[in-house]
Amino acid sequence: MEKEEIFKIDQEHYMPVFSRYPLVLTRGEGPYVYDIDGKKYIDFLAGIAVNVLGHAHPKLVRAIAGQAGSLIHCSNLYYTEVQAKLVKSLAALSGLDKVFLANSGAEANEGAIKLARKYGKTLGADKVDIITARDGFHGRTLLTLTATAQPKYQQGYEPLPGGFHYAPYNDLPALKALVSAKTCAVVLEPIQGEGGVNIPDAGYLAGVRQLCDQYGAVLIFDEIQTGMGRTGKMFAYEHSGIKPDIVTLAKGLAGGVPAGAFIASNKVAAAFAAGDHGSTFGGNPLACAAANAVLEIIAAEDLVGNAGRIGQYMLAGLEGLRQKYPRLISAVRGQGLMLGVKLTRPGRDIVNQCLEHGAIINCTAGDVLRFVPPLNVTGAHVDEVIAILDKVLARD
Ligand SMILES: *Cc1c(COP(=O)(O)O)cnc(C)c1O
Repeated sequence: MEKEEIFKIDQEHYMPVFSRYPLVLTRGEGPYVYDIDGKKYIDFLAGIAVNVLGHAHPKLVRAIAGQAGSLIHCSNLYYTEVQAKLVKSLAALSGLDKVFLANSGAEANEGAIKLARKYGKTLGADKVDIITARDGFHGRTLLTLTATAQPKYQQGYEPLPGGFHYAPYNDLPALKALVSAKTCAVVLEPIQGEGGVNIPDAGYLAGVRQLCDQYGAVLIFDEIQTGMGRTGKMFAYEHSGIKPDIVTLAKGLAGGVPAGAFIASNKVAAAFAAGDHGSTFGGNPLACAAANAVLEIIAAEDLVGNAGRIGQYMLAGLEGLRQKYPRLISAVRGQGLMLGVKLTRPGRDIVNQCLEHGAIINCTAGDVLRFVPPLNVTGAHVDEVIAILDKVLARD
């Protein structure tokens, strides 16, 4: 097919919910992808923090192909070794106990919130309130867009599920004013991704932990974007010295095969009994084999360490651009390979110009350029992207 034909079919038959860039991708290798005309792009969006190993990592490809050749899917009515292996690894890495496997981020959060509700009910019939943070992002199902405290995601879908309250992010006094004995859970991203790479002050997450303990509320960290080593720790909460009661994962979990998970302490997980939750596809052998391979490769190639080191290097490079273009860039921030450049104006045309120059990046919250590359990028890859940004910003 010619790309014009693909654009036309998409316009006629795909739900018009995405504003796509005019790019048809055909294959990828490492941190690069290629379009239908054979043009090469360095990919510092990585499917929005999904392709943690880059594209077509040979070991991941082998693991997926091998599993596909033996058992792609079987029902959760039966056991598989790949699933047992994965939940053991996730429990060990998180320091939590019980895992549920789903297919996406929204599903992971939806399940985590269901578990928190069930657990809250064991403590009191009216312990049902959920507090989330403004500018957060938790998914697109009706429940998770209600958890997503941004009007643009909620408008038109009312009535929304009840019991949700919103506090400004990184504002402990405001949260304190909302928490009560009726609070069953507080749901937060340790670093807000979609909301603009917002990093809370040191002590904020520990303060939230303390409030949850005081009121017997479940602390849920949405690590769908920050998890899997992205911030230079396997889980971003490791930077804060505290642990949630439930953590949710998706995006990078299976390196691009759809997968999600929530992991809970035994205490909270005890609120679930047989029949209380479920999924047909969740935790299927193909996704588990991919996730096991991702975890093995992350460990074998020290990609958590690499994310920390290369993240520092890229942060310094972006800081150099801020000093060179103070009129365009107001702030640079990041932890590991989750980085943001706050612009003084909307960033979509900068993303488009980067695309023309062969770099895939993204703009979130209107004016924040976001970089969430594969975790195995090198300093040379970073230099390539910084050089393209420099060229684009110089013309502005
Ligand atoms: C992407 C994302 C989600 C939603 O994940 P989906 O797989 O698109 O449902 C939820 N929370 C955070 C923090 C995310 O970045």
